[in-house]
Amino acid sequence: MDLCNLSVIKNLMSDAGITFRKEFGQNFLINRMIPEDIADNCTDNSDSLIIEIGPGIGCLTQELAMRYKRVVAIEIDKGLIPILDKTLAEFDNVTVINADVMEVDLSEIVRTYGEGMPVSVCANLPYYITTPILMRLLESGVPFSSITVMVQNEVASRLIAAPGKSDYGSITTMLGYYGTVKRLFKVSAGCFIPAPKVDSAVVRIDLYKEKRFNPKSEKLFRDLVRAAFEMRRKTLVNAISTKLPQYDKVAVTEALIALGLSETVRGERLSTEEFVNLSDILFEAK
Ligand code: SAM
Repeated sequence: MDLCNLSVIKNLMSDAGITFRKEFGQNFLINRMIPEDIADNCTDNSDSLIIEIGPGIGCLTQELAMRYKRVVAIEIDKGLIPILDKTLAEFDNVTVINADVMEVDLSEIVRTYGEGMPVSVCANLPYYITTPILMRLLESGVPFSSITVMVQNEVASRLIAAPGKSDYGSITTMLGYYGTVKRLFKVSAGCFIPAPKVDSAVVRIDLYKEKRFNPKSEKLFRDLVRAAFEMRRKTLVNAISTKLPQYDKVAVTEALIALGLSETVRGERLSTEEFVNLSDILFEAK
């Protein structure tokens, strides 16, 4: 059964008595090559446990199951579960969990299904919740080798933006803290049913095996990034002293000068490393 075939999708859904749910960001792939390409590129290690978020009717899940040792697919929509039971019946290496990825215990899933195995994430993400899902994965403490996800193309541009570019934001800085990102390929809106308004892209995040940055206070580093981008039109000195008043303008100015940065610099110009260094100087100064 070709799960990217339009009439197959429609028949499966009408037999189950369900329709596409916009509130869950349901845009299903209808171009066979895309799930194949995503599955091919998600990790180099076929012995991996792959966690898929939002399997839909299972088109990407099948491709993952054919290539990797174990797949755990987390789907929020309970109406899709009977369909997945059917479409994934032939694969004994797949487990479907009916849950919200924002609430499941990812470490527990890894302990249960992939203890000691390399773990990666692979997903065509629901667009209404892309950034919170990415942050949840990165902050989960699970040592993912890679996270390969389809996102809106404009979000992909944000994830890979260089400091100083208009697309650069707090998610870019935070991703840089955990690993490196690249855009693998673009996917046009016509490859989905229903077709979204914008094109998409697949990005792969390769997580650092060893922590690359070790700020003296991770909390302060995070607070600085948040302050900088919540008030991105202000200078960094003003943004930090407004949002984190325990660091006055003089202290922040001195820290920037010590880093060789202009005292009028905006946060969007700083790399992840510069934010970490700034947080260390301010932490020491307290
Ligand atoms: N993987 C399928 C495909 O590529 O055709 C479907 C992708 S569709 C863009 C997103 C999927 O994520 C839907 O199946 C949707 O029900 C599911 N989803 C949405 N929010 C979710 C959440 N918070 N937790 C788990 N799954 C979610």
